[in-house]
Amino acid sequence: MPVTADCHLHSSYSGDSREPMENLIRAALGRGLTHICLTEHMDMDFPVSEDTPADLFTLNTDAFLYDLALRKAEYADRIKILFGVELGLQPHLQKELALYAREYEFDFIIGSVHVVNGRDPYYPAYYEGRDDEEAYREYFQAVIDNLKRSSCFDVCGHLDYVVRYGRHKDRDYSYEKYRDLFDTMLELILEKEKGIELNTGSLRKGLSQASPHIDVLRRYRELGGEIVTVGSDAHRAEDVAADFDRAAELLKECGFRYYCVFEKRIPEFHKI
Ligand SMILES: [Zn+2]
Ligand SMILES: [Zn+2]
Repeated sequence: MPVTADCHLHSSYSGDSREPMENLIRAALGRGLTHICLTEHMDMDFPVSEDTPADLFTLNTDAFLYDLALRKAEYADRIKILFGVELGLQPHLQKELALYAREYEFDFIIGSVHVVNGRDPYYPAYYEGRDDEEAYREYFQAVIDNLKRSSCFDVCGHLDYVVRYGRHKDRDYSYEKYRDLFDTMLELILEKEKGIELNTGSLRKGLSQASPHIDVLRRYRELGGEIVTVGSDAHRAEDVAADFDRAAELLKECGFRYYCVFEKRIPEFHKI
């Protein structure tokens, strides 16, 4: 079976998307999906700069939920629409994040690291004055630090997000090179009974791999990991379910027989 659930999507409720929710739903129907989960950005205390005004990634969760509930009812007989959020993790926000996650009845929460020691690796400044390895190590260490502090999510988003934006991207990047950090990360994820996501967005950013690297995915499976959701990270309708055939192949290659869809924070296993 192909993967028919896209569990990482951004509509115009996210500060960096202009796509109306309706367009994402129609695109999903056009691609034969059975489930979608809208996972809008909620990044508290995001660093303010010329490109990122204050509150750019502060989600108006009530408005989002209201709109989503209407669509959910409208499309109930055609597709299941789930209520999610991509929550930006930062160690000092441990308490605020936990309270926010409890405030709403989310179906699914992706915990993502977008800010490392006050900087977003999306911007070149993060890599200035150092090589990719040092920059990547700082990011992976930040994922570990957040995993130690927070548990208010279901899966870890794009574990190697930083590689998308490095000077040489994935040219000299492998699981082996960062094995020490990845193994710590994966052990923490398993200990907390969380999952990871297979994010196909990286393929659209010029990388040869989806996120995380296939060897990281394989290692998670080897260690006993079973919970994987699949997401396109689409911010535009045309990217909904992008590269999902490849995602299904990757999962099978790594030994997974199922992918997950979360509803009311409980994973449901779907055969690949
Ligand atoms: Zn993200
Ligand atoms: Zn995202």
